[in-house]
Amino acid sequence: MKIELITIGDEILLGHTLDTNSNWIASRLSECGFHLRWISVVADNVSDMRHQLRRAWNRADVVLVTGGLGPTHDDITRPVIADFFKDELIARADLAEWIHDRFAQRGLKPPPGYELMSEFPSRAVPILNEHGCAPGIHYSLDDRELIAMPGVPTEMHGMLIETVLPLLESRREGHYRFTVLKTAGAGESFLSEKIGDPNALEPVHLAYLPSIDHGVTVRLSLSGSDLQEVDNTLKKAEESIRDRIGEFIYATGSTILEEVILNLLVEKKMRLALAESCTGGLVTSRIVSVPGSSEALERAFVTYSNKSKIEVLGIDEEILIDNGAVSSETAVAMAEGARQRADVDIAVSVTGIAGPTGGTDEKPVGLVYIAIADKRGTSVNRFRFGGGRDANRRRAAHTALVMLWQRLKDD
Ligand code: ATP
Ligand code: MG
Repeated sequence: MKIELITIGDEILLGHTLDTNSNWIASRLSECGFHLRWISVVADNVSDMRHQLRRAWNRADVVLVTGGLGPTHDDITRPVIADFFKDELIARADLAEWIHDRFAQRGLKPPPGYELMSEFPSRAVPILNEHGCAPGIHYSLDDRELIAMPGVPTEMHGMLIETVLPLLESRREGHYRFTVLKTAGAGESFLSEKIGDPNALEPVHLAYLPSIDHGVTVRLSLSGSDLQEVDNTLKKAEESIRDRIGEFIYATGSTILEEVILNLLVEKKMRLALAESCTGGLVTSRIVSVPGSSEALERAFVTYSNKSKIEVLGIDEEILIDNGAVSSETAVAMAEGARQRADVDIAVSVTGIAGPTGGTDEKPVGLVYIAIADKRGTSVNRFRFGGGRDANRRRAAHTALVMLWQRLKDD
């Protein structure tokens, strides 16, 4: 099944709005085993839209459109699509009533322009959802489908999940299943070397999805006509992958590393403290993003200056003078200081040079030390990240979580 997506809007072409709709739709579709063949962005302009619609309608089985369904003068998707199919807009009392009710529920009257949205292409089916009041448009012609959705992400999301995905599913032959194995502490090339030739897993499809914040996700997918067979084959492939890289897998599905860490801490009845310098609270923020983090997180220190490292964490000034703030000695002292001051079981510290300035030959930008202190002692690792400030900070935060996870699971 060939699926094409057209996003419409001057604001995207002007760089004012980031086209997150395309990315979101592509991910939701691929999660379900559907793959977009083409994505394009066109202006709110009749001839450009017609041109792109013709191209898409000629080559794809399903054409998805987002944007320009609203009530303002630049929202021309509805008349342009109707015209493209040599259709006409007709006033629909049922849609006018639906739109009216949507506003009435909030004690409001539809503002001027909204009545226009009840003028609907005569041969299309409206898609209504509770997330907005612009009806989507569904044409089903010559065994092909066109679905136009609003540009507002929340409105589009509801329509895609409630209408588009079931429609695609109904056109699919056979069954599709996938498994995601989330890994931490190993790069994509290392994992692929361990796993070996992906063709050996055939007919299971293997993909590596690396992310700065979440490690490398290994995704296995398979489609086939017999659901039981699809499930069994996928299970066997998963087992063979686990045999090879099991030690790096922290979760399956949508579970994140922070949750795994918090579960381990709670299970072991351990309290956590953090001492962050270059990450400025990123590690803490990631931990705190998980509901229930208070069960394990005691406190966190953002100790950016030398003064704060001395005053707040109680680090001996000599350590800073002799080794500098970015050093294994300082990282160790920060972790031990945090553990002692917070009176907890385990503490993690991060100190590094995020860049773009502040690097030297001896201590370049991207140099980061991460230490962990617990009752067994303190360990420290040195890392050399090679990105910009933002990437270095995110990598450092992720790596601190990875080290913490490794320490806890091996305990
Ligand atoms: P509305 O009823 O709000 O007018 P609409 O269907 O006409 O909805 P647009 O006017 O194209 O949609 O876009 C409305 C808003 O939705 C934009 O200002 C922008 O914030 C957001 N938006 C539109 N397209 C995208 C996109 N591709 N990615 C992310 N956001 C988008
Ligand atoms: Mg609009």
